[in-house]
Amino acid sequence: MRTKMLCGNWKMNLSKTEALTLAANVRDAAAAYAEAEAVQCVLFPPFPYLDAVSSVLEGSPVMLGAQTLHEAESGAYTGEVSASMLVDMGCELVLVGHSERRHGLGESDALIAAKASRALEAGLTPVVCVGETGAERESDATEVVLLRQIEPLKHMLARCALAYEPVWAIGTGQVATPEEAEAVHAFLRAQLGENGASVPILYGGSLNGDNAPSLFSKPGVDGGLVGGASLKAEVFSRMLGQLRNSSGEDSFHVHA
Ligand code: PEP
Repeated sequence: MRTKMLCGNWKMNLSKTEALTLAANVRDAAAAYAEAEAVQCVLFPPFPYLDAVSSVLEGSPVMLGAQTLHEAESGAYTGEVSASMLVDMGCELVLVGHSERRHGLGESDALIAAKASRALEAGLTPVVCVGETGAERESDATEVVLLRQIEPLKHMLARCALAYEPVWAIGTGQVATPEEAEAVHAFLRAQLGENGASVPILYGGSLNGDNAPSLFSKPGVDGGLVGGASLKAEVFSRMLGQLRNSSGEDSFHVHA
């Protein structure tokens, strides 16, 4: 059994005032869905806003997440943020392996596994992002790439959420078709063995209020990791409703 989840990755966007307004609007819109325990909603603001957004979300079922963390427990890592600091800020989840960090900042599969491990030790749920580039898809290497990405994490995945985020779809307006997403989600779930039934697998990549319903209608798509469209309270809130109403036969209702 697993949770339907909608995650909003704000990336390096918004002023503090804009962030607090967006959080309040999503909180208010989400109340109806989350109260019915239909969808788990998570916001991932930039680090400097975590504390203030946490206050806005207090008492609401909307959960707080961070966009990354450092793999060490503490120490001389100037500019970095530890898992325990995130927990102190009220975070319950953390993104690891986002393509902007894999490809933009050179994070390796091993480093991503170390970050996920540290997150779990601290009591955070890692949302592990995986996905192939356009060139890898064109050369039929999608499955090989996904296997390489999940291999060092395999023993932990039962305690994570997975996000399939094809690199070619992130921020490009080029969304995977529901059938493409469904096929990859089924492949990933098969790799999880007996844990496959309990690990949420989200789709991410140019999701918006227009294309989300067809993706959410696929049984193996348990929700979404949303970038650009999560910056608009009205669109993101609409997507919460779409996910709640989606008919994926595997989905069910729970709030952690
Ligand atoms: C993301 O950043 O994880 C993402 C999917 O971005 P976008 O929705 O803007 O493609």
